[in-house]
Amino acid sequence: MTPPADSSRRATVRLTLTCNNRCVFCAQRGLHAGPERDPQAELRTLAASGATEVTFVGGEPTLYEGLSELISLARAQGLRRIGLQTNARRLGGLPSWVEAGLTDLHFSLLGAEAAVHEYHTGIPGSFEAVLAGLDAARQLQLTTVATTVVTRSNFRVLAPIGGLLQRTGASAWGLSLAAGAGGAGAHFDRVVPRLGLALPYMLQALDRARGQGLPTFVAGAPLCALGPFARFALGGEARAFGDKCTSCTAQPGCTGVDARYLRRFGEEELKAVSGVPLEHEAIARLLVGTGELFVADPAEVPPPPVAVRSGLKALGKVKPAAAEMTPGTPKRSGEALKEIFPSLFVAAQEKPPVKP
Ligand code: SF4
Repeated sequence: MTPPADSSRRATVRLTLTCNNRCVFCAQRGLHAGPERDPQAELRTLAASGATEVTFVGGEPTLYEGLSELISLARAQGLRRIGLQTNARRLGGLPSWVEAGLTDLHFSLLGAEAAVHEYHTGIPGSFEAVLAGLDAARQLQLTTVATTVVTRSNFRVLAPIGGLLQRTGASAWGLSLAAGAGGAGAHFDRVVPRLGLALPYMLQALDRARGQGLPTFVAGAPLCALGPFARFALGGEARAFGDKCTSCTAQPGCTGVDARYLRRFGEEELKAVSGVPLEHEAIARLLVGTGELFVADPAEVPPPPVAVRSGLKALGKVKPAAAEMTPGTPKRSGEALKEIFPSLFVAAQEKPPVKP
């Protein structure tokens, strides 16, 4: 259970570590369930701590028997928004979950076409399941968001995912760099992309999606690598920092980089920020305008001059380029082309017949 820092933050309740996908990057691969958990008790604790929202997560939480009852309990405990993070492969109970109080779905979408998505999930048909889930959610008027884990295999084809989500009515999109944990940690070089290669594609996809009206965010990247897009970074737990970070004024708000990444590639892509880092709004407030204005009486402004009819100046005849023509060279007609391109003027009867 992740307790909320304040009553307005959403908490999560993990229902299971079991999953019916085999995602190549799965950060939870290798985790052990530990002592049996009691999701009902966790829900009651959350409600008592003042939480107003919850998302059920896994593994794949739709594999948890009794999900409907948990949603009902969450509603009964006063949680106003109740979400489910899912790979969309087991959404048959969706109408009953909505009846019980479900308000939103958080999909995992790894590509805008089956080949890309299913390379990552390892499950044929899993892409169609997400599309069907998005469609069902829209019909049931649920709020939907999606996360794309960014890997070496999909970072060049991110932008179409934003377009797909925008067309299906999603409310937000998160682009999350694969973390060096679980499956991605075990197959690091195969899964985790270099920041310098992946970020231009990620930020271009973010910019395009926002331009299409889809709120889009980025996670897992150091602030210094995001430039003006740093204001769209999602927070998270601090990870590893390089030597450069010790003098960086952005460090308090930065999640740094993955420890494995730092060990594998070093910190050459990091750049310490100097000066006082300010949030976007705080920076904008510094641009205070031009100050008090002396406004002239409009009556003092002279009227426009009487229009004088004038045409564009003629620039004279085009002259041949000096380097191409010497003075006195006689003019030549189109006939001269025969000397230059004789094959263009072969008699029609000499040409091979044109195939129908
Ligand atoms: S230099 Fe380090 S602390 Fe500063 S923004 Fe980059 S990763 Fe974050």
